[in-house]
Amino acid sequence: MRIAVLRETAPHERRVALVPLIVQRLVKAGHEVAIESGAGEGAFFPDAAFAAAGAVVAREREALLAGCEVLLAVQRPPSSALQSLPAGALVIGLLHPAAGDDYLAAAAARGLTMLAMELVPRSTRAQAMDALSSQATVAGYAAVLVGASRLSRLLPMLTTAAGTIPPAKVFVVGAGVAGLQAIASARRLGAVVSAFDVRPAVREEVQSLGATFVEAAAVTAEAEGAGGYAKQLGEEQQRNVLLAIGKHLPEMDLVITTAQIPGRAAPRLITAEMVASMKPGSVVVDLAVESGGNCALSRPDEAVLDHGVTILGPVNLASTISQHASLMYSRNLLNLLEYFVKDGRPALVADDPVTGPMTVARGATALAR
Ligand code: NAD
Repeated sequence: MRIAVLRETAPHERRVALVPLIVQRLVKAGHEVAIESGAGEGAFFPDAAFAAAGAVVAREREALLAGCEVLLAVQRPPSSALQSLPAGALVIGLLHPAAGDDYLAAAAARGLTMLAMELVPRSTRAQAMDALSSQATVAGYAAVLVGASRLSRLLPMLTTAAGTIPPAKVFVVGAGVAGLQAIASARRLGAVVSAFDVRPAVREEVQSLGATFVEAAAVTAEAEGAGGYAKQLGEEQQRNVLLAIGKHLPEMDLVITTAQIPGRAAPRLITAEMVASMKPGSVVVDLAVESGGNCALSRPDEAVLDHGVTILGPVNLASTISQHASLMYSRNLLNLLEYFVKDGRPALVADDPVTGPMTVARGATALAR
């Protein structure tokens, strides 16, 4: 199978779809891997490392794509690149299937089959291919570092000749994959950590990481919907959640919010009044900023200062830890390829429980396989 990887073109994207270690595995399995020159630069993987791993490093994008059967990407490859792919080729990446534009329809019309990494099912079987989880893990960690770097206080307790410094108080709202990693990372830095989630099932996970769970009245198991995801709350529950969070915020130094509801705008959990009640010098890092934000004041990729509180809305945080984010993403892709490639060929079955839901465009050739 001929696999290609291009240099990512989205602004500020530093990740690369394959890292040399995974290229080596693919080449050993009998595949040909072609990498566009400079594709690994943002993650500090030079062309020479890809060549040493057995890849062909190509400068000419058109030539690289002409014979390609599988194009692996982090973000959507540009439409011009899709035009250069042979009909029947497979494209796998974070393809923004909900964007509502004609990108995917145009790809299907070209005879391409597109698998969206956002749609890896949340099943035990597919866990090793789940890029949203691997990248959320990186983002949760990075959120603590970004927040800590803007804080005017130290995170750990320090006992020094200049006196004792009390530990900072970190509050994590939303304890999914990113939130749990944020809790663990803040604990590693010595902060006193508390967390809240509407799914009562996560209380034990939060506590096992050494954080305390903030309780909200009348938030029950009903807040948990299909697949372990949160549901949108009813009015009374939402009021109770805001009350519980609002009561807790004035004591906090660093607040990291990660609350999401699949397919909906992020729940608004920190109002402008609540920000005004926080300590001057405290910091909010809103990881849900791209889906509308958990904090009323957060803006994508901006630092907003309000009542002495810094509100950060970092976008694509995983990309900032580019080397390990790429390694984890690359492993997700390898696990996916190992799942559906049989005897060196892609063998996609329409109703497959993993690749079926991921298929957002289906080209004629792939359908026939
Ligand atoms: P997510 O990114 O969709 O949301 C983050 C968190 O926000 C969730 O924990 C959610 O409950 C919480 N939240 C939503 N509304 C809230 C509100 N109003 N107030 C406070 N918190 C709120 O979540 P995720 O990281 O994708 O995880 C969701 C679930 O999926 C978890 O049970 C996780 O263990 C599970 N999961 C399973 C797999 C797998 O089986 N392969 C992979 C990843 C995650």
